[in-house]
Amino acid sequence: MGATCIFCRIIAGEIPSQEVARGEGWVAFRDVHPQAPTHVLVVPLRHIASLADLASTDAGLAGSMIMAAIAIARAEGILAEGFRLVWNCGERGGQTVPHLHLHLLGGRQLGWPPG
Ligand code: 5GP
Ligand code: ZN
Repeated sequence: MGATCIFCRIIAGEIPSQEVARGEGWVAFRDVHPQAPTHVLVVPLRHIASLADLASTDAGLAGSMIMAAIAIARAEGILAEGFRLVWNCGERGGQTVPHLHLHLLGGRQLGWPPG
């Protein structure tokens, strides 16, 4: 998948990104089209297409990605005021990049329901 997947190419260093943090099995970088003042994507280093492809053995990885997003929210100064974590999954879920990613959005008032 590495040759064609845009996030695999970012992970391989073939496409530049603004990295904000890195940990065991994941990397976090800023979204190229930010939807909020803070818009960071937490991405597993291993190619996993979506939440639908997560195995029960990936529970630790998924938990690490959530804890990473919370730590980044703290570092961005938006922990206390509030923020949002989003996993889009599949076509109806609005997923456009078929490599699992967790959105961290914050720094402005977010609306509900989502579009
Ligand atoms: P999705 O719609 O799949 O949940 O989110 C994919 C996100 O990846 C979008 O917010 C989009 O702006 C972002 N994105 C797409 N291509 C690139 C890229 O080349 N670099 C970065 N940093 N973000 C990207
Ligand atoms: Zn990939």
